[in-house]
Amino acid sequence: MTGGTADLLDARDLARSYMIRRGLLGRSTAVRAVDGVSLKLARGETLGLVGESGCGKSTTARLVLGVEPPDEGVVRFDGAAMPRSGTSAWATLRRRMQMVYQDPLQALDKRLTIGTQIAEPLDIHRIGTPAEREQRVAAVMAEVGLQPHHAGRHPQSLSGGQRQRAVIARALVTNPDLLVCDEPISALDVSIQALVLNLLMDLQERSGMGMLFVSHDLRAVRQISHRVAVMYLGRIVEEGEPDAVLHEPAHPYTQALVSAIPHPGKTASRVILQGDPPNPANRPTGCAFHPRCPVATATCRIETPDLKPRTSDGRRVACHVAHGEASPARAPASLETC
Ligand code: SF4
Repeated sequence: MTGGTADLLDARDLARSYMIRRGLLGRSTAVRAVDGVSLKLARGETLGLVGESGCGKSTTARLVLGVEPPDEGVVRFDGAAMPRSGTSAWATLRRRMQMVYQDPLQALDKRLTIGTQIAEPLDIHRIGTPAEREQRVAAVMAEVGLQPHHAGRHPQSLSGGQRQRAVIARALVTNPDLLVCDEPISALDVSIQALVLNLLMDLQERSGMGMLFVSHDLRAVRQISHRVAVMYLGRIVEEGEPDAVLHEPAHPYTQALVSAIPHPGKTASRVILQGDPPNPANRPTGCAFHPRCPVATATCRIETPDLKPRTSDGRRVACHVAHGEASPARAPASLETC
C-alpha cells in the first residue's frame, strides 16, 4: 500500500485531562488521558492507532475530530485550524470528517429505518434535492454492499455485519475527506471482520479519503494501515510502517503486544509484562512504562524518553534503550515460551 502526500490532518502536542472523583466523598483528581500526542495523516493514507483499553486512543480520535477541544495543542485540518466544537464553522466541516463507532447497534436509532438514517447527514447539511439525496443513499448502500430492500428495514432486523455496513454508509454519504474508525470491527463476528476491513480498504482506494483506524487488534491494524502508532498511557511510544513495527518492534511495550498475538501451531516467545497497567491518575515518573518494562534502567525511572527517530532506521520510538542511550538493566528475564 502507498499513502498520499499532502497533510490532511496535522495534530500537534495534544493533551487532554479529565477530573475523576473516587467514591462519593472522594477528592477529584486530574487524569491526563492524552499527553503530548502529535500525528499527521495524508489523503489516501490510513494511520492505525493501537494500544490497550484506556491508553487514550479514543480520546485522541475525538480530539482530532474536534468533538472535544484539547487542553493543549492544535489540530489543523486541510491546512486550517480546527474550529471549536459547536460553532457553525465546525458543523460545516463535519460533513468532511465522519466517524464509525464500535457498536453499530448503539450507533443506530432502532426507531428509524436504515435508509432514513443513512440520509441523515445529507439532511443535516442540506446537501442536494430530495431526489438527489435518495439517489445518493441508494448509491452509497450499493457501495457498502447493502441491498435496496435494506433501506426500509430497522437496525434490529439486520445482522451485525449489515448494521456496520449501514453505519459506514451513513459516514460516507457526504463523501468525507477523513474517516475516523473507533474499534469498528471489535463488536463483529470474526467471520465478518475481514469483510468489513476489506470494504474500508476498497472504499478508501476509490475515494482517496484519509483514515484514522483506532483498534486494539494488531492484526487488523497491520492489514489496513500504511503507518501504525502505538499508544501507552496517553502517549505515542512507537510509530512506523506496520510491517517494520509489528515484525521487529523496537519499544518493549510494542514487543509485549506483538508477542501476545496468537500464532496457531507456532511456538513463540511471549513477553510477559510484570505488574498491572498503571493508574493514569498516578502516572509513574520518567518513562511511564518502567514499572512493567523487563529492561528498565535507573534512567528510565527519572527521565521521560522523547518520541524521536532512531538513527538506524528512522522509526520513531520513545525509549532510552531502543535509542542506545541506556543499556538494558538485564536480559529480559520475563521472556517466556508459550
Ligand atoms: Fe523500558 Fe526504559 Fe524503554 Fe521505558 S525507556 S520502554 S522503561 S527501556
